[in-house]
Amino acid sequence: MILDGKKLAQKIKEGLKAEVVALKTKYGVVPKIVNIMVGENPDSSAYMNSQRKAAGFVGIDYELMSLPLDVTQEHLCSLILALNEDDRVTGVMITKPVPAHIHFSDAANLIELNKDIEGINAANIGNLLLGNPTLIPCTAAAVMEHLKSTGVDLSGKEVVIIGDSQIVGKPLSLLLLRELATVTVCHIGTSRAGKLAEHVEQADVLIVAVGKAALVKGSWIKPGAIVIDVGINEVNGKIVGDVDFEDAQKRAAFITPVPGGVGPVTSVMLMRNSIEAFKLIIGV
Ligand code: NAD
Repeated sequence: MILDGKKLAQKIKEGLKAEVVALKTKYGVVPKIVNIMVGENPDSSAYMNSQRKAAGFVGIDYELMSLPLDVTQEHLCSLILALNEDDRVTGVMITKPVPAHIHFSDAANLIELNKDIEGINAANIGNLLLGNPTLIPCTAAAVMEHLKSTGVDLSGKEVVIIGDSQIVGKPLSLLLLRELATVTVCHIGTSRAGKLAEHVEQADVLIVAVGKAALVKGSWIKPGAIVIDVGINEVNGKIVGDVDFEDAQKRAAFITPVPGGVGPVTSVMLMRNSIEAFKLIIGV
């Protein structure tokens, strides 16, 4: 079964829209996101457009703050501090990539805990580690929504994650431990040791977030597995994931396509986080 990200995103968006209407009726205001973007980047502009569309649908205010490529770290940091103080702003994010002279983590860590709608600052990641997550990194949350949509109980399942990034692999490993899954995290070291295939073959649930087309061969997939492909790669002008989809879909019970799998749900998770942030700020 192909896990349709657009359909899932639409279903979640409808629920969020109703929630925003209810919040507006009760409190007279709606969440407001400010997205800080340094310089121009076609990939991030595409992601930004899908965020803007999702925000418009759900009823969340969305403002893009475009900063010049040569903006200083000091200027960026003072802007974040000002947004922290601005009561009308309930969510702040910084779009990646940023130019080399900007220290992303230093800036992101300045975002007030309850306004950190991407769930990426050290305190939010710490809360996730301590088993008390509030704002979760959006891509990891999108993968969890896809897994939830299969209805499969993850307790005791062998879950293999390929990729240990801060926004996908690491937070996912923590979220899956909360579901009592047995989690293995593979990465470049696993491949260099020639052990990737043997781990994948054991996976009841496989999540791949690397950025390398056809990294995972269809023949490695355990029959009946759930396969979530987070990767985005351009091959001959076409967007593909990290898994050899054609062969993998013959063996998997559930599989996400690329495009149209994890991506559409990710921007909706940003909206969900924005509503959570709003509720944390007003204390409901
Ligand atoms: P990253 O680029 O920060 O890290 C890549 C990871 O892959 C590392 O853990 C590295 O060790 C591992 N890796 C690299 N080569 C490998 C190999 N040959 N074998 C095994 N592991 C290997 O990762 P990221 O930022 O999480 O992005 C990963 C992919 O997911 C990219 O294609 C990115 O575009 C995509 N992505 C998609 C979404 C979405 O919403 N669909 C969101 C974020 C990222």
